[in-house]
Amino acid sequence: MVRITFNRQLCKGCGLCAEFCPRGIITRGEEFNAQGFLSFSAVPGGRCTGCGACALMCPEVAIEIIHPEETRGLAV
Ligand code: SF4
Ligand code: SF4
Repeated sequence: MVRITFNRQLCKGCGLCAEFCPRGIITRGEEFNAQGFLSFSAVPGGRCTGCGACALMCPEVAIEIIHPEETRGLAV
């Protein structure tokens, strides 16, 4: 299963990731991060396909997508 992580502290709350997610599974949180922004993250169990659109769009490089092959050390 694809894993996706959001670095809350890097997030500037721009919302681009949510706008470009074809599954509509990224939402704004309700707590401010240390920089004073409401950070975004993917809904747990939200059927992420690992397409990478969110990570590609994030200007803060706050999103990491880990595919199963990578966790097994088989990625090239
Ligand atoms: S990898 Fe694709 S499906 Fe998954 S959260 Fe990002 S944009 Fe949405
Ligand atoms: S694109 Fe990046 S900086 Fe913008 S809301 Fe999403 S995670 Fe935060």
